[in-house]
Amino acid sequence: MFRFRIFLLLFLLSQCTSSSSVEKKEPNLVSANANPSLLSDGLYAIRYGKLLYSNQLMNSESEEGESEIVLLFYLLKLGSRIILIDTGISSKETVRKFGVQDWVSPERSLSSAGILPSSVQEIVLTHYHFDHAGGLDLFPDAKIYVRAQDWTALKKSNWFPNLERKLLLKERSKKIQLLDSSLELAQNFRILFTGGHTAGSLAVEWSLHPGKGFLITGDECYWIDPCKKGKGLPKAAAFSVQNNKEFLDYVDVLSSQGSMILTMHDPQVLSQGKEVLPGIFKLY
Ligand SMILES: [Zn+2]
Repeated sequence: MFRFRIFLLLFLLSQCTSSSSVEKKEPNLVSANANPSLLSDGLYAIRYGKLLYSNQLMNSESEEGESEIVLLFYLLKLGSRIILIDTGISSKETVRKFGVQDWVSPERSLSSAGILPSSVQEIVLTHYHFDHAGGLDLFPDAKIYVRAQDWTALKKSNWFPNLERKLLLKERSKKIQLLDSSLELAQNFRILFTGGHTAGSLAVEWSLHPGKGFLITGDECYWIDPCKKGKGLPKAAAFSVQNNKEFLDYVDVLSSQGSMILTMHDPQVLSQGKEVLPGIFKLY
């Protein structure tokens, strides 16, 4: 019995030593049960699937055929504050309906980084479409920043079960902020009105210092390079071609000042980051 206790003690000690040495070697590595604070501050792109999509509905170079796009949402971590830009998709039925491939539940992606849905306190919704707002129900505690036009459109959709009731609960618990002007959510982190893709579509800008910043375009642009060259959305994918064009002028200004242009669908986004966990890419 005594020998067994000694063995147990030595075993426990060895476990403590080995886990602390792993932490020293890999300060940024996070495991499934990690403390959220182990995910370092910064901006992340999260890939949750891919899709074949018509070139006629994107700012593609060619209007023929289809292209494979990735499905992304973004996470900004600033200390204990976790802000999502869009939400991915929660419902398997929506995944099937739209032919999404390689789908990963946003909940699962986040938990692999040690982030519980309840840790997400804020969500910027760039627009109401299924691949952007389809995971909203996973975050009942989060405050949503959205424009009224897209909130109204979202209420008429069916991206997840009991959508209408869940959105009503959000309203009653005062978790919706309907934006009527651009808003600075954190220092130099701003929500911008665009209104080119949908009536209430938004973009997000994070400026760090001169020559360093990020512009998340929502679906005002699908492809980064054509976007930087001024190629806007075709009429079929635009609520307002004019608003989209004006946004592209702003893309041009920021891009020429050194900001990184990030869309929600271009695989090029991922090659600009480092994959710190499966499907989670650190951009900054
Ligand atoms: Zn989209």
